[in-house]
Amino acid sequence: MAEDFNPEQKRYLEGFASGIAAARLTGGLALGQGGGGGAPAEPTGPDAIHIRAQDATVKAGGKLCDQEKWKRAENPFEGHNRLISEAATGSAPKPEDNFRWRYHGLFWVAPAQNSYMCRLRIPNGILQHWQFAGIADLADAHGGGYSHVTTRANLQVREIAPEHGQPFLDGLIDLGLTARGAGADNIRNVTGSPVAGIDAQELLDTRPLAKSWHNWILNDRSLFGLPRKFNVAFDGGGVMPVLEETNDIGFQAVRVLEGANVEAGVWMRLVLGGISGHRDLARDTGVVLRPAECNRVADAILRVFIQNGDRTNRNKSRMKYVLDAWGFDKYLAAVEEVLGRKLDRVDPAHIAPRGRMDRFAHVGVHRQVQAGLNWIGVILPVGKMTSDQMRALAKIAAECGDGAIRMTVWQNFLFSGVPDAKVAEVEARVAALGLTTEASSIRAGLVACTGSRGCKFAASDTKGHALVIADYIEANLKELDVPVNVHLTGCHHSCAQHYIGDIGLIGAKVVVSEEGDTVEGYDIVVGGGFGDSPKIGTEIWKAVKAEDCPGRIEALLRAYLKGRESQAESFQA
Ligand code: SF4
Repeated sequence: MAEDFNPEQKRYLEGFASGIAAARLTGGLALGQGGGGGAPAEPTGPDAIHIRAQDATVKAGGKLCDQEKWKRAENPFEGHNRLISEAATGSAPKPEDNFRWRYHGLFWVAPAQNSYMCRLRIPNGILQHWQFAGIADLADAHGGGYSHVTTRANLQVREIAPEHGQPFLDGLIDLGLTARGAGADNIRNVTGSPVAGIDAQELLDTRPLAKSWHNWILNDRSLFGLPRKFNVAFDGGGVMPVLEETNDIGFQAVRVLEGANVEAGVWMRLVLGGISGHRDLARDTGVVLRPAECNRVADAILRVFIQNGDRTNRNKSRMKYVLDAWGFDKYLAAVEEVLGRKLDRVDPAHIAPRGRMDRFAHVGVHRQVQAGLNWIGVILPVGKMTSDQMRALAKIAAECGDGAIRMTVWQNFLFSGVPDAKVAEVEARVAALGLTTEASSIRAGLVACTGSRGCKFAASDTKGHALVIADYIEANLKELDVPVNVHLTGCHHSCAQHYIGDIGLIGAKVVVSEEGDTVEGYDIVVGGGFGDSPKIGTEIWKAVKAEDCPGRIEALLRAYLKGRESQAESFQA
């Protein structure tokens, strides 16, 4: 038996798991080890595309990383009932089962919380009020009684005991929701413009596209178990950004002008390779698609990635690295081969500039395209809401709005469809819950990942420090009159996308004594951007103690206020 396997994996090979999985595993690896078991059978079924890619990796002399071996030893969907049985005993999962649970949306959080976190799937970030209230009930019954809005316009519920994991997932099904594929090497929550369908500026309503792609993924198991995680976003061209440039695939609604080589009108521009934590934003491919083509083209892009992504080194396994190695032309040629046709390309000169973005569109009251109706953005303290607040907010949406609650990538949410006559009531009811529809220049763009309170990778308490920074700047820099995005991320995974903030902080342990004692702190980058001014920020300070960060940020902002020629000059400039 291959020496690469730990005892648990050998147990599967010896027949604990399905014989088919074991046969695939031994057969595949034999290829890379000089044979000995004869030619393996050609794989079939939904995992065949992945098995062939793994076999090719091994045949070329590569050593599959642990996660690839775990996927192959037991498909996480086929292992579901075993996972449930073991979780029902209240035990913590083994590392490989922690990975497998993530296919079902549950993440074991240890040692910080010794419980599961569940990350949902909410296409385009939009829930109905009864779903929102239902999630609050589930968080009370099975979790810690609170939820967080994430930077993918999604919800996470924490402190779910092992034996409550499956009941929580069952409850999601009752609400018409799922967490399937929300973690591990899968396509993450599908984001779309938060004000889709209500924004006068938008070119296209992203809701049907996001929902359609969400269902496309969920109904094709071959699109699970990629070389690494994968993000897709749809931007409708409206006032509120969706940060599609930080996604592996971004679809941007654009207006193609008369005189181009394709029919004038609204098309989706294809941008590829965004991964801000690796200091790269998605770049324009020159390709434009009809909106109805997005699913099929995204599917083809994924199949090229599945066949060619790196399955040996987790640090190089995102699609960006295939693009870097091949270049766009080769990658798109492979996509066209899968599709069996050429993609349309348009010279950028024939595409109208994108409409303006409003950095405050996710905060406060804004007129909808529908006469007499408004959306109202509510600020949450770095994304957190108690279950009681959620139920009350759901009631407001039902009684004063159109019943929808729209999450944004700014870790907050919007009410929509609020008549003019109800706006004041919404503001008062939100304030009574200890929340606000108004935000200072610093608080409106404050984004923080989970941090050390709930993530083992974190070097610092990002959420706690974010609130300290906001309090400090509000008290000491009242003259700040433009929105500033401050993003705090706990580690190199960059869940809070620190490289695209005006000011970005990435957790770092700061050595404070000759004995090597450390305290929490951050490396600080400045000048990042998104939307109409995308840019990766530049590091200016390393290892700043957390207690010193508010003062450093104040100094940066004072320098900006002093040096700018007008309010219109961005922090990035
Ligand atoms: Fe955890 Fe790192 Fe993501 Fe923060 S950025 S939530 S510390 S993995």
